[in-house]
Amino acid sequence: MTSIPEDQQKNYEIFRDCLSTALIEKISQPQSKPKRKPRSKRHSTASQTRIRNGNATKAPDVDVDVDAEAEAEAEAETDSDLSNADSLADFADYIAAETFRALPAELKTLDYHSYVKDADLQSRYALPFTGFDTPQLLPSLDPSVADSLSAYAITREPTQGVDEFLAPILTSYLTALSTPPPAPRATLREAEGCELCGRDWINLSYHHLIPRFVHAKAVRRGWHREEDLQNVAWLCGACHRFVHRFAGHEELARKYYTVELLMEEEGVKRWVDWVGRLRWKGR
Ligand SMILES: [Zn+2]
Ligand SMILES: [Zn+2]
Repeated sequence: MTSIPEDQQKNYEIFRDCLSTALIEKISQPQSKPKRKPRSKRHSTASQTRIRNGNATKAPDVDVDVDAEAEAEAEAETDSDLSNADSLADFADYIAAETFRALPAELKTLDYHSYVKDADLQSRYALPFTGFDTPQLLPSLDPSVADSLSAYAITREPTQGVDEFLAPILTSYLTALSTPPPAPRATLREAEGCELCGRDWINLSYHHLIPRFVHAKAVRRGWHREEDLQNVAWLCGACHRFVHRFAGHEELARKYYTVELLMEEEGVKRWVDWVGRLRWKGR
């Protein structure tokens, strides 16, 4: 595989992070595949939440069974290869490299400072991208990318094709490049890597352990003190999305307001164990 030029390496890593986050989400949500008979995982998640609220000690067992079953089913129906972290890392690296290479040159080295200064460029790449933009952004994309994605049932032509799959990834890539570092860098100094999975080369974003959405309520009800509202955890994109799928705002605020509390849950431990093994070659 041709390597990515040095001056594009930083952008490539951001792109691969966006892409692998989307891949991980597809793979961990088997119900998004329309071919499958409608077995609603959303529904089971909701009922687990109810159980968790009712009996905090028993819930993780219920979680394990439901998820293990769902995973086994997903493996049986699709090519099971991608459930293996090494294969998934290889696959993500390959798709990311092929796709990144097909991007317009100016997007391969773009950084925040040149983006904000360049109004032309901003209007040329108006966000968010849709499936219609993808062929224009990636005119020379190797057809093997579409083939591979569909072989692993990540995409399903013609409704959920490669263009629709890649559009939100291209959007989050350009969004990442056009967004200034959001939090005081001071809080990042303690985080060597993602505070859940420990991966340390990956882009981190901060998660409000007490989600902002419920700040007012949390203080009013006496769940938390005002000064604790800004506690954050630095998480990779995949773990951040996982945490928000795992529990709603209020549940996060009341039960999972520290990394330690999150890590006590079996479901979180299993996730961290799995995603933490997803490492790129040569690191
Ligand atoms: Zn992580
Ligand atoms: Zn968050």
